[in-house]
Amino acid sequence: MDNKTGRAAREGSTATIKLVPAVAIPGYLTGEIQSKLAYVDESISRAEVSTGEIILHVSLLEPVTAGQPAVLTSERQLELEEKVQRVVVSMAKGAFAPKVQVLEDHLDRPVYYQLDPMQELFARGEISQEATGIYTLGPLLARLIAYFESQFLSLAESFGAAPYRFPTLIPARYLERVSYFHAFPHSLSFVTHLREDLDVIDQFAQQAACDDHGLDTPANSFASVQALLSPAVCYHLYFALADKPLPGGQFVATAVGNCFRYEAINLTSLERLWNFTMREIIFVGPKDFVLENRETARQHMTAVFEKLGLAYRVESANDPFFVGEFRKQAAFQSAFQLKYEIRASLPFKESTLAVGSYNYHQDFFGRNLAISLPDGSPAHTGCVAFGLERIAFAFLAQFGFDPANWPSDFRESVR
Ligand code: AMP
Ligand code: ZN
Repeated sequence: MDNKTGRAAREGSTATIKLVPAVAIPGYLTGEIQSKLAYVDESISRAEVSTGEIILHVSLLEPVTAGQPAVLTSERQLELEEKVQRVVVSMAKGAFAPKVQVLEDHLDRPVYYQLDPMQELFARGEISQEATGIYTLGPLLARLIAYFESQFLSLAESFGAAPYRFPTLIPARYLERVSYFHAFPHSLSFVTHLREDLDVIDQFAQQAACDDHGLDTPANSFASVQALLSPAVCYHLYFALADKPLPGGQFVATAVGNCFRYEAINLTSLERLWNFTMREIIFVGPKDFVLENRETARQHMTAVFEKLGLAYRVESANDPFFVGEFRKQAAFQSAFQLKYEIRASLPFKESTLAVGSYNYHQDFFGRNLAISLPDGSPAHTGCVAFGLERIAFAFLAQFGFDPANWPSDFRESVR
């Protein structure tokens, strides 16, 4: 099947579409655009993006008459291509390369393992997958995470951080107030419950069943969404401090919590989870207080990672804003050096994975949530955030499963 923008070929119950991007995709945007194609259409099961070509793997889910092969109609193909080009144009047109700033580079440290740890983790019964992006972790991973937690807690301790516990749910109103719906609509996870109606509840109790798509319950059985699963930890602190003067004028807190980001077909292995855990150390106060503490935290972690022998680098980054917001917001973050990521080496794929980030939000939360400093100006905020599953995964990807290769300090505490 040929047309002027793309070609589609049947492959069992999937088709591939190859198309030429409407705007040339610069190398630094290929990964970012590829991850956004996951949200373009439910029928896209895989996307490969390079500068001059996009390859889409499309499931042919259309109802088929018995005996007739599933086909990708030209209307449907055009529709998919148009949606993909919309993403490309929105993200790539007029984009300029961010100046990547590398604060530390220790990627040349020796590593002891070359395989994907997932196979060994499954073979040992260390992980089991409940569903896409949802895993249970066994004793090795739990101990590894406890070890890293002890390091993060001593970082928190070095600032005298106040410990907090935050809920897993976050009110929709809260996320609205900090424009989260606008910036990250694609990765939200909504929470609801059955409407308080005896008939609805009785009917559910009698009839609820799961099919291949999930619960088959009619949508009107559910109440409207008042809460979502929380996408980050530090937001809860900012809301707790909202609409009043900041006591003492400056503040450091720490908390660990479940976080949720729905990442569609990008949810693969422990690298990218729907449900993951984050430890944050959070700074609230004047600009210099936040920036200096963020830098002190980075230096503290440099020593921790050096002792461990982790291969990683720290470089400037941006948050995964959705299509319409991406270009502007990513450029803003880059220009003001708002985000740095700790990217650990994954030898098995010759690539790196963000295991943590050093963030500065300027006075965004202070302004939007009316957190005021003693002089009446809005507070500045920043946070240091570590992904616990990811740091354990990156450690195993570099050091493997043989304790003989593990750093001694670490071997002592993990066994
Ligand atoms: P961020 O606030 O996006 O910088 O996230 C902080 C850290 O959380 C990242 O550096 C990752 O280690 C971790 N993280 C973010 N998203 C995911 C995810 N989908 N799965 C697992 N870990 C994640
Ligand atoms: Zn944070």
